[in-house]
Amino acid sequence: MIYRKKILDSNPYVSESGKKITKFNLPLNFEFCKKCLTTNQRPTTRSEHSIKDDITKPTNFFDGVCEACKIEEKKKLIDWDKRKNDFTKLLDKYRSRNGSYDVVVPGSGGKDSFYVAHRLKYEYGMNPITITFSPFIYTDWGFKNLKNWINAGFENFLNTPNQKIYRLLSRIALEKMFHPWHPWILGQKNYPTKFAEKFKIPLIIYGESPSEYGSPESEYTYEYVRDWHTYKNLSDVYISGCSLEELYSYGLKFFDLYPFLPLQEKEFEKNKLNCLAFSYFHKWHPQSNYYYTIENSSFNVSPERTAGTYSKYASIDDKMDDLYFYTYFVKFGIGRTTADVSQEIRNGDLTINEGAKLIKKFDGEYPERFEKEIFEYLSIPKEEFGKKISNLFESPYVDKEYFFETSNHFRSPHLWKKTNEGFELRNKIEKYFPEYFDNEKK
Ligand SMILES: [Zn+2]
Repeated sequence: MIYRKKILDSNPYVSESGKKITKFNLPLNFEFCKKCLTTNQRPTTRSEHSIKDDITKPTNFFDGVCEACKIEEKKKLIDWDKRKNDFTKLLDKYRSRNGSYDVVVPGSGGKDSFYVAHRLKYEYGMNPITITFSPFIYTDWGFKNLKNWINAGFENFLNTPNQKIYRLLSRIALEKMFHPWHPWILGQKNYPTKFAEKFKIPLIIYGESPSEYGSPESEYTYEYVRDWHTYKNLSDVYISGCSLEELYSYGLKFFDLYPFLPLQEKEFEKNKLNCLAFSYFHKWHPQSNYYYTIENSSFNVSPERTAGTYSKYASIDDKMDDLYFYTYFVKFGIGRTTADVSQEIRNGDLTINEGAKLIKKFDGEYPERFEKEIFEYLSIPKEEFGKKISNLFESPYVDKEYFFETSNHFRSPHLWKKTNEGFELRNKIEKYFPEYFDNEKK
């Protein structure tokens, strides 16, 4: 297998018949949620180690309203005191009597994981151990926040993969799925259960349930879906969209890939592991988590607005993040602003009118700030990687031109059309909801 330069068949993007061609299993008829402005193209959480071509399972819509909004309505009926009580009883089953660690909290030390670990320790009297799967390229403030977490009274295990393997897998994921962040997602989903198994700490508590963002209500339970972080047969496992056999043929060994692999299901069962979402038992409000974190520590926000959105405090640890959200925009027509806006509208922190204007202003903005460093990271020169690996790529080096050529290959024609100025979204928010932009025309 050689990763060749992608050649774009631009015809579907020019002709109107292209409107009927979708990639990644996306729904043909485009809709914005009339309550929170997310779209029906948004993929839901899935078993990341099972995907080959970034096939998605899009979020459900009901009469123009997304499933996250439906769940938000139902959450108003939840008796949170009762849930908190249930949570305390559950923790009692795992509580350590001799001072040993009794719960694993995965995270980066960002606002959400800080909040969960801190409350578990200082409010619930648990003894959490925190674990982190390293970003590709730490931002200065992201690394300071990891230290800030540790300084607030926590031991942390940081799993930093071999950088040559991490870079290579990220590049392969870019070529196969236009998803350079994928190896990190695998690591952060799969490291916690393996750690719990090794250290015999059977309770793992995550921050939010993916149903906060539109995963099906059937998955809105206290437990994480088992398939997300376990496998039955290695032959069904994919990393960066490649089977293990394919990766072995490049000279990679099983242990090179181990940091990215899930735990085998029978090990999960034998060790009676339990993965919970803190948000199932408590009202989840990311902005409050942020205020809690700055009140209880020296948390650092990003010194500048994050490219592609208006916020400064969410998902700020990895320089690769910026590029990942841009690739997401290319594939699904949803940028980082839409993701932030829809969550804040559901939480009551933004009005739909404000959200629509923010989407128009920032969504899909190309992130320039770290591009040089990221493209160097994604380049596979033979001086560093040897001929065999470097020769897998027709163009071992990634630059802006190569990145954009590649990006076009992953645009779904039902979302994008080609114009003289380049690619343009077919469904712009200002066209869909002209009522929010009336003042701008005058
Ligand atoms: Zn919605």
